[in-house]
Amino acid sequence: AATCAIAAVMVGRRVKTLRRWKKVVAVLEDLEEDCSTSVGRLRQVVDAMAVEMHAGLASEGGSKLKMLLTFVDKLPNGSEKGTYYALDLGGTNFRVLRVELGGDSSAIRKYDVDQQPIPQHLMTSTSEDLFDFIASSLKQFVEKQEVSELPEVKSRELGFTFSFPVKQMSVSSGILIRWTKGFAIGDTVGRDVSECLQQAMSKRGLDMRVAALVNDTVGTLALGHYHDEDTVAAVIIGTGTNACYLERADAIIKCQGLLTTSGFMVVNMEWGNFWSSHLPRTLYDIDLDADSPNPNDQGFEKMISGMYLGDIVRRVILRMSQESDIFGHVSSRLSVPFILGTPKMAVMQEDESPDLREVARILNDVLEIPDVPLKVRKLIVKVCNVVTRRAARLAAAGIVGILKKIGRDGSGSITSGRIKVGSHSEIRRTVVAIEGGLYTKNSMFREYLNEAMTEILGEDISSHVILKVTEDGSGIGAALLAASHRFVGVENVQ
Ligand code: BGC
Ligand code: MG
Repeated sequence: AATCAIAAVMVGRRVKTLRRWKKVVAVLEDLEEDCSTSVGRLRQVVDAMAVEMHAGLASEGGSKLKMLLTFVDKLPNGSEKGTYYALDLGGTNFRVLRVELGGDSSAIRKYDVDQQPIPQHLMTSTSEDLFDFIASSLKQFVEKQEVSELPEVKSRELGFTFSFPVKQMSVSSGILIRWTKGFAIGDTVGRDVSECLQQAMSKRGLDMRVAALVNDTVGTLALGHYHDEDTVAAVIIGTGTNACYLERADAIIKCQGLLTTSGFMVVNMEWGNFWSSHLPRTLYDIDLDADSPNPNDQGFEKMISGMYLGDIVRRVILRMSQESDIFGHVSSRLSVPFILGTPKMAVMQEDESPDLREVARILNDVLEIPDVPLKVRKLIVKVCNVVTRRAARLAAAGIVGILKKIGRDGSGSITSGRIKVGSHSEIRRTVVAIEGGLYTKNSMFREYLNEAMTEILGEDISSHVILKVTEDGSGIGAALLAASHRFVGVENVQ
């Protein structure tokens, strides 16, 4: 009878474990279903993106896509010459650059960079604190760079990369519309950020002029085009996400009679704020949005970019631990927003050890969940993959949306995306410059994105679409734009 009782207890335990296991698996299965990005669905996103682009160009406020004018109407071509500074204020890091341009295309003669993380407290402090910090870092950098030079040489020109939505008045000035990526400094919104920087610089006695104020996507496009003239768009997939592209001035209907020397203007889409009912949204996305400092904004960004992916995964693991006691008690760490960063998530995905040692280590060290069975570790890697894959595929759909808008996706008339070569036509080569840590550092993200591009476009067209990593584009590109637009900047001020 005793053996019988023990056997019964053991069976009971096994049934319980099985039930727990099923519950965790169910969480994963639901996630997979809710995140599904069939090629059919991606095509709907492509179409929605192209439609919203039209709407955003037609009228101010016509779409969640702001389609912002940049006043960049020519892209660097290699004739730029001289020494320029650039300052890149983005999501995570803050960079200062000095670029020497040689006047022929091959020649970014030399560039020096200084990089540091943006101190967390400045992201929610005051405008004055932030710009003082930037100006003083810039001043230190300049002094270090120019130590061996004659003091009187200087009339310094600066390209200022400011990676947030800005309503530009000219190529060198613009008003902050709102913050994104966790920045929340109330008194900057509505102000001219060039002016803020200019003031902070003069306060420190730094003699430098903002010749170009650019979004990071625009800097990336500038450097991409400098190296390769077929570059027509640029995408950032880092802490945040966004894209810009070269548009015909007459297609920018909301700004009638827009005069540009080239007939083109770069448009900053601010695609992070794109929204469509076709996007595969989960309960985790809804919660993440509600808990964010900018609810209802940047919906596309919150599904795609590095600031958020790790936190979506954290929310899924939290749900798993609530649904079943498979992890023992619910770790309080699991309730801490952003505790699981996207780089940590990537480490878990790339763990190739047979016992998933890195996964165990991160679960233990970061989330304080010890002794997770191998079977469950595997499940968690799957969660990371589902979240990453959805992000990458949606970004791919966004890129194809742009190609569709500018007639480079091979759809529509047979001539679209083709050029005449003698008596026949050929598919045109199209280059999209890409920057941002999530794309450049996460190989899985990159593979998923490229795979989706081919699925949506087909082999034939997609082999003519080149996604090119443009290292340091947002910074160097701003210096290039300062060089090519310096005189325009002066005219606009008068
Ligand atoms: C900002 C964009 C920026 C992107 C990538 C977004 O949050 O709104 O202006 O280009 O992040 O840095
Ligand atoms: Mg950046």
